[in-house]
Amino acid sequence: MRVRADDACPCGRERRYEQCCGPLHDGSRRAQTAEQLMRSRYSAFAAARPDYLGRTLHPASRATFSLDATREWIERTRWTCLSIIERTGGGPLDMRGTVRFDAHYVEDSTFRTHHENSLFEKRHNIWYYVRPLD
Ligand SMILES: [Zn+2]
Repeated sequence: MRVRADDACPCGRERRYEQCCGPLHDGSRRAQTAEQLMRSRYSAFAAARPDYLGRTLHPASRATFSLDATREWIERTRWTCLSIIERTGGGPLDMRGTVRFDAHYVEDSTFRTHHENSLFEKRHNIWYYVRPLD
């Protein structure tokens, strides 16, 4: 575990991990919005929780997910900062939403940025990450 309960949450909200993405990672709470799910998935990289990344993938997108490959990749990276750029839909009453973001990280001593516009969908009242749109 790379993030302790009383650390600032990696997702960038000014809250402690135990009051922000921590309860989502341990399953005691669920994301209410697409943005919250996106932030918690970013935090899952920072907190080395590949299980959460698998669990929050839309069932239709799980075939290509590898827990071991994701864990190995997380071990080679350090996640440094998340910037949310824009979002559409994704609120508590929506069924779909998009979140465009930049996720900054270090891989093999090189600073990198992952840009993505992600699609999220709600299924049985639970938000899932579907896929990148671009
Ligand atoms: Zn958080």
